[in-house]
This record gives sequence, C-alpha cells and structure tokens, in this order.
Amino acid sequence: MKPNFVVEDDLGRWLPVIGLEVHVQLKTKSKMFCSCAVNPRSEPNKNICPVCTGQPGVLPVINKYAVELAIKTALALNCKISPISIFARKNYYYPDLPKNYQISQYETPFATQGYVEIELQNYTKKIFITRIHLEEDAGKLLHAIGKEELSYSLIDYNRSGTPLLEIVTEPCIFSVEEANEYLVSLRNILRYIDVSDCDMEQGSFRCDANISVISLEEEFLSKFFEDKNFPTDFTSWLNLKPYLLKGTKTELKNMNSFKSIREALSYEIQRQVKLLSSKEKVVQQTRLWNEKLSITEPMRSKEEAHDYRYFPEPDLLPLTISSEWIQKVQIELPELPHHKKQRFKNIYGLSDYDATVLVSEKGLATFFDQCMSKTTFKSQDELQQLAKVVCNIITTELLGKLNAENKTISEISLPAEYITELAQMVINGTLSSKLMKEVFAELWVTKESPKNIVEKKGLVQITDVSELKKVVEEVIRENPQIVQDYKSGKHQAISALIGQAMKKTKGKANPKQLTELFKTILE
Ligand code: ADP
Ligand code: ZN
Ligand code: MG
Repeated sequence: MKPNFVVEDDLGRWLPVIGLEVHVQLKTKSKMFCSCAVNPRSEPNKNICPVCTGQPGVLPVINKYAVELAIKTALALNCKISPISIFARKNYYYPDLPKNYQISQYETPFATQGYVEIELQNYTKKIFITRIHLEEDAGKLLHAIGKEELSYSLIDYNRSGTPLLEIVTEPCIFSVEEANEYLVSLRNILRYIDVSDCDMEQGSFRCDANISVISLEEEFLSKFFEDKNFPTDFTSWLNLKPYLLKGTKTELKNMNSFKSIREALSYEIQRQVKLLSSKEKVVQQTRLWNEKLSITEPMRSKEEAHDYRYFPEPDLLPLTISSEWIQKVQIELPELPHHKKQRFKNIYGLSDYDATVLVSEKGLATFFDQCMSKTTFKSQDELQQLAKVVCNIITTELLGKLNAENKTISEISLPAEYITELAQMVINGTLSSKLMKEVFAELWVTKESPKNIVEKKGLVQITDVSELKKVVEEVIRENPQIVQDYKSGKHQAISALIGQAMKKTKGKANPKQLTELFKTILE
C-alpha cells in the first residue's frame, strides 16, 4: 500500500519534509521585560513605557510568571528544560521594533528535545520539538492605504514586549495532514495548560512552515516510509534525519488560519515536485502565502536573508531555573488531553471516537466531567451506560446547537445537572431519543430543567403495552399494502409501519418496543 504522504508522479516518488515554527503569545498580565499591561483591546499606544519603546538607558527585568508559563509548556511538550538559558539580541531594523533588536534566545534556548504525539487515521507518531525559546513580540504596523501621496503607516506599541514562546519542530513532518494534526494538538495542549489563548485570528498563535521535497527512490527510505516505523525517541530520530535533509527548503509565512496553512503547504509541495520532476532546482527562499490568489510568492532569497548578528544580551543575567521550581510546576500541571482521553475510555468506557470529540476542546471535556460528577450509580455498568448517554447528548445535541450558533461552550451557561437529568430520563425509559432531542431543544431556549419541561409538555414516553398494541393494530389495519409487502418478504417495510406508529403517538413511543410488537403481531 502506498503511504498517504508520498507524492507520486510519472517521474518518481517524492516525500515532503516539513518543519514548523510556532509563535505563541503568553497569557500574562504584564509584558516580558517591563510592567506594562498586555491587553490587545486597549486603545493604541496606551500600554507603553520607556522599556518597551526602546528609550536609551532603560533596563529590562524578566517577567517571572512568563518564565513559569514557559516551564509549564516545556513540561507539557516533554522537553528538557535548560538549567541555565541565555537571552540574546537579535538585531534588525524595522519600525515596529523600537530598540532595533529583539530580545530572544539563540544558542542556549529555554528548553530542547521534546515531542508531541499525534494520532492520524491509521498510525500514531511523535513530532519532535527541537527547541522552545522565550522572547518578546514587536509592535504592530497599520498600513493606511489612501491615494498614493496620502499613504502612511500607523504604529501601535501596545504589543511591543509581549511575552512570546517560539516552538520549533524538527523536519520530521511528512504531509499536510501531519502538519495540521500537530498544530491542532499543540494548540489544544497549550489551551489545556492555559498558557495562551492560541487565537490565530488575534495573532496569539502564528505559524511559519519550512518545507522541502526529496526523492524517495532510495531503497532504504522507500521501505522505511512504507512500514511507518517512525522514530520513538529523539536519538533514533537524529539517526534518520540526515537522509531527509537532501532537499532545498523554502520558508512559508503569512498564513493566518489553519486552512491557509494547509493550502499553502499543499501548493508548495506541488510547486516543488513540479520543479524537481522537470530537473529544475528549488531556490532557497522565504515565500509569502497570497490568500487571494491561493499561491506562494517569493519574498526574499537566501542572499537577501537577514544577518541578525546575535550576541548575548548584556543587560540580563543568564536565566536559571531550579529543579524545585520545575517540580512545583509539574505537580500543578493539569490533566493533558491525551490523559483525559485515556481516562474517558478506561473509566467511562467511551469509544475512541467519542473520547476524541470530547477532549478536542477543553471546555467540552470539563463539562463532561462536571456532568459525570453529578451522578450516582451502583455499578460500573450503570456508570458506563450513563456516560455513553451523557456523551451522546453533549456531542450531538449540545455541539449541534453550539455549532449552529457559532458559539463555544465557555460562552454559554448550562447547568451540568440538566444533562445528567436528561440522560437519566433516557435510561429509565421516560424519554425516547426523539423526545430527548425535543426536551433538549426546549431547555436550550428556556433554560428550564428537563423535569419541568417534561411535566409542562406532557412528553412522557408511552410504555403501557396495551396502549401501544392498540396503535400497532390500527396502523396494520390502515396500511394493508405495506403489511402485504412485509409478509411477502420485504422486511424493511416494517420501518414504514413504525414511522406511522411514531406519528400517531407524536414520537412518544419507543421504536424498539414498537418493532417487537409489530413483529409478534404480524407473525
Ligand atoms: P534556518 O537556519 O534556516 O533557520 P533551522 O535549521 O533553524 O533553519 O530550521 C528552521 C526550521 O526549518 C525548523 O523547523 C526545521 O525543522 C526546518 N527545516 C530545516 N531543514 C529543513 C529541510 N531540509 N526541509 C524542511 N524543513 C527544514
Ligand atoms: Zn513597557
Ligand atoms: Mg533558525
């Protein structure tokens, strides 16, 4: 079977090699090196001081909480935290950078050698993280476009000095799907540990993508990728790495959504494969994603690339992190998505699919936990039965409403006990699943408890067999043709009869019970 990430054309088999650089704005109250507020909703240039506007003679002071968030991130991404890391000046001139250098980290970053485990259709794989470093964000330029002579730019330094983490992967990603899955998983983890909002539109989660394409002709590589035996530790990855670095990479910037990242990568893979197939060379360069035209365009080539002349920041001491501090943060680390998923499967017996949907958003998983904490049960079976129904209500009814109204669960207030109450009514037979949907739709609007709604609307499922029998007999009398069809062997005709019976009872009958009744009476 051809592995899904290998691109094949008449001239060969090609493998995309991708490495991602993600910038994340940390959720701190104040900036990285001064006490100005971090607030993207402030009026322009309200949260500024001599430090973050680069006045002469000022000195930076490290934000301790930003460092704590960096420790949290490094632990959640399985990285080694450097006991001592060093801030460095990255020198370049741009109007949004008032000091003419950005304080970053270079040779000795904050943390190294981590991984994020991702799950794809039919395999799992570790995406290795090269490094995580701490730095500060630049200001924001707003280009006002008027008539040519009136064009000007505005500068807002509110963002200048906002704490940033840069998370860089190894070139160990081999398809658009893997890149997308890594980014989704990374964002989810960062949201679980509450270090960043990770809002791409707001710019608190930004991604640059590096990509090259290599030929997969070589026996060793072909075999390796067919078997999908990906390295499970950093050292074995490093052994494989040299075989993958034979291509020339381009760097893609300016993607502002997951969709544009996927599109830009797909476009760039095709572009490079085409070049290589026709024996042309890929030029090492930075390319910008053009959203309107759906293409990547050259921005600067290697020769024009910045030489940042990094050197250690003379105004800051090396950053030392004690093992006690790391331990303290480790203990406080919340349950991560993959652990939650495992727990939902093990304790509640949820399917892999259900558990995946629940943990895909922290709010949803937390809400499910809240619902389950409101329950009492006598046995493991009872617990799992309830969990299944609660999960079903959350993933179909609740998510359906949220999606339809384009909301997230954090934006609404819904008492968890309503969901458990509703689930219990399904389990004890009060409500059919059709009635459950009706009650949910009602409580979504009125915010009333399921019990009240059921009483008010008289929505109780008919369980009285003699009453149901009457309905079934009526339906049989009124539909001789369908009955005939059923008797002549068309067994699916029974669903039409059940449909009629459901109509007559206004959805208050139990379809399973109806099926049984029809079968016994007809046979
Ligand atoms: P540079 O020196 O050009 O900044 P780095 O080695 O620092 O390059 O890597 C930057 C990013 O590019 C990393 O995410 C890395 O995984 C990725 N990368 C490096 N080499 C390649 C390659 N041959 N193909 C694709 N991505 C690569
Ligand atoms: Zn400031
Ligand atoms: Mg680099």
